[in-house]
Amino acid sequence: MRPARALIDLQALRHNYQLARELTGAKALAVVKADAYGHGAVRVAQALQAQADGFAVACIEEALELRAAGISGPILLLEGFFEADELPLIIEHDLWCVVHSLWQLEAIEQAALSAPLTVWLKLDSGMHRVGLHPKDYHDAYQRLLASGKVTKIVLMSHFARADELDCASSDEQVAVFEAARQGLAAEVSLRNSPSVMGWPSVSSDWVRPGIMLYGATPFGENQAIAARLQPVMTLESKVISVRELPAGEPVGYGARFITQKPMRIGVVAMGYADGYPRHAPTGTPVLVAGQRSQLLGRVSMDMLCIDLTDVPQADLGSTVELWGKNILASDVATAADTIPYQIFCNLRRVPRVYSGA
Ligand SMILES: *Cc1c(COP(=O)(O)O)cnc(C)c1O
Repeated sequence: MRPARALIDLQALRHNYQLARELTGAKALAVVKADAYGHGAVRVAQALQAQADGFAVACIEEALELRAAGISGPILLLEGFFEADELPLIIEHDLWCVVHSLWQLEAIEQAALSAPLTVWLKLDSGMHRVGLHPKDYHDAYQRLLASGKVTKIVLMSHFARADELDCASSDEQVAVFEAARQGLAAEVSLRNSPSVMGWPSVSSDWVRPGIMLYGATPFGENQAIAARLQPVMTLESKVISVRELPAGEPVGYGARFITQKPMRIGVVAMGYADGYPRHAPTGTPVLVAGQRSQLLGRVSMDMLCIDLTDVPQADLGSTVELWGKNILASDVATAADTIPYQIFCNLRRVPRVYSGA
């Protein structure tokens, strides 16, 4: 059998969830959209179900997958509904619903609902992606109440730049939010992972951690709390071929790497079809036979090459960690000019093996 696999440590996941709670003293919706950032939404939700205050997903399809698997706690649809005909299902499956646009508000006003909704009313406090304009916010709140179709409203917004610690934008967004919600007595939800980890003064009854649950830091720079996260996913495989090359020989597609000295090269069963980033360059860290080494040349679809020259104990069959507890996914992401979010979401083909359930 091909040796590539993703080990998922559910104990580490629970540790990270607890850390988000502990850091904020708030209720926390575990964000499990996009198949729990590639970790497997059902298994992740099952592992967190006993402790989590609820879950958040991107769409009703993702929510229904969790309900079908027996997840019974609150599930928030982070973008609400995409079409009004989802509303009966939202009621039937007892889902919480973001309202981010006036068309959604109008759809609720016009719908015949068999039970009232829980709505998270989203303000655009400066990210300018989705969310109501501050001038419409009070009015939207009052209209939802007046519709008689809503049982509870939570006030929410989302940060655009909370992963930049020396940037004023998050404080400005909080100020816009506070002004817009003046006089509205309702719970508040503002904080994503970078805000939970890097902005201790932001007050938020509900937090919405995603990436930190999976043990990766959203920060490109050093940040104190990051060391307290436990990586959840270990992507590993094995060396399936070893060769010795003299100086001056090319390695892999496009001859992107050429040996400058005699070298020992290991071929690993892992490629971009597994989600390993094709743009990871020579020098991207890997761990082989317990020792740090580096990627060489271009990543191909099913294989990649690594340097065994200074790892004499490595041989055919040696285990290679592409990311995990030793090689941080955020470091691989940085090397490949992307973010750990995308590294995780891209995972495919590789069987996931769970422990710590
Ligand atoms: C994805 C998402 C989150 C989680 O973000 P992280 O940076 O992964 O913590 C929180 N809130 C909303 C609205 C989201 O879309």
